[in-house]
Amino acid sequence: LRVKFVLFRRESGFIAGIVAVLNDKTEQEKLEQEQKQFVSNVSHELRTPLTSVKAYLEALEDGAIHDPEVAHSFIHVSLNETNRMIRMISDLLTLSRIDQKKLPLNKEVVNFVDFLRFQVGRLAQLADADPLNNFTGKFHFVVDFPKGPIWLEIDPDKITQVIDNIIGNALKYSPDGGEIRVTLVVKPSKVLLTISDQGMGISKSDLANVFKRFYRVDQARNSQTGGTGLGLSIVKNIITLHGGSIDAQSQGIGKGTSFIICLPYTDQLSDYNNNQEWDA
Ligand code: ADP
Repeated sequence: LRVKFVLFRRESGFIAGIVAVLNDKTEQEKLEQEQKQFVSNVSHELRTPLTSVKAYLEALEDGAIHDPEVAHSFIHVSLNETNRMIRMISDLLTLSRIDQKKLPLNKEVVNFVDFLRFQVGRLAQLADADPLNNFTGKFHFVVDFPKGPIWLEIDPDKITQVIDNIIGNALKYSPDGGEIRVTLVVKPSKVLLTISDQGMGISKSDLANVFKRFYRVDQARNSQTGGTGLGLSIVKNIITLHGGSIDAQSQGIGKGTSFIICLPYTDQLSDYNNNQEWDA
């Protein structure tokens, strides 16, 4: 906190008053520091994959291109790195739109139960069938939803992005497979969506940070999974734009993680939703 005193004197020289100006300099400095850190992170995050693509291209030029097997693997790694850079840039553009309040929500009233069933089915199929995602182990999806429809006003594309990210993480960070449980509980003015896995978990000290931009629990496991460290910060922003909140809980290292998303619904929709059977 910066305090500046200004003295007012009469012509006679006597002090007529003092004005104290309080300037919350620390907050501004913190913001500037964060911005500098962000630019430094972006530069570093992009330079690393670019340096490795450059090294592979140089090796190919130096002769590796003549060995089809080696050439194929160098090209494969370079493509993976390039795809990661593209993902990172598109994530950064999304975050920049959110920062500038230029990410409008295209809200629709949807039956959230049907919506979730569709999303979970799609991702379960992907986890099983997509060889491009290096998901190891077999996953077992379990859903626990209310019987009747639950109506929510959401932007379906953006909430799809949220579900993709959280279930995608559950798959990425559960190297031995296990159960992925998706539960929807309806409260009088909101729904609670919980997505739990039985993967590697997150330590208590890391839990508070996973929603920060570029934060990753372990750099090494990340370069394998091809993540950007931006997914959860986008998720949190999308949920906040919907007037909701998100929380991460760990069952302990090696025992799994739960993400709990709270989404409110309007009074009009509560008339429909509260006619359903729900767990209070
Ligand atoms: P990334 O692209 O690295 O996955 P995210 O922002 O989605 O970035 O996640 C941030 C970090 O939080 C991840 O790098 C990972 O260390 C940790 N994390 C996220 N979800 C899980 C999970 N289900 N289990 C264990 N760790 C997780």
